[in-house]
Amino acid sequence: MKCPHCNHSIGLFSKTMNSFEKNRVCPSCKQPIKSYFDFKTAMIWFIPIAIFNFIASAILGLSAGITMAITVGILMLVATKLKIP
Ligand SMILES: [Zn+2]
Repeated sequence: MKCPHCNHSIGLFSKTMNSFEKNRVCPSCKQPIKSYFDFKTAMIWFIPIAIFNFIASAILGLSAGITMAITVGILMLVATKLKIP
């Protein structure tokens, strides 16, 4: 994810993103940032990820529950973005 102010890359598992503080700030420019779930991006990614998981689960013999969890996990990664609050 990139900071909307300075384009500094902030990891989804970084300290900033996992803090419980309401007012998050960019570790680079100290400007306030807010994370949100971008449904449009999620929709674009959903079908290719679902197809990939369907094929992967057929090969590896994974259960539908695990496949679904992986799909949701990847969608969270690609569709979580930052904006200026
Ligand atoms: Zn920044």
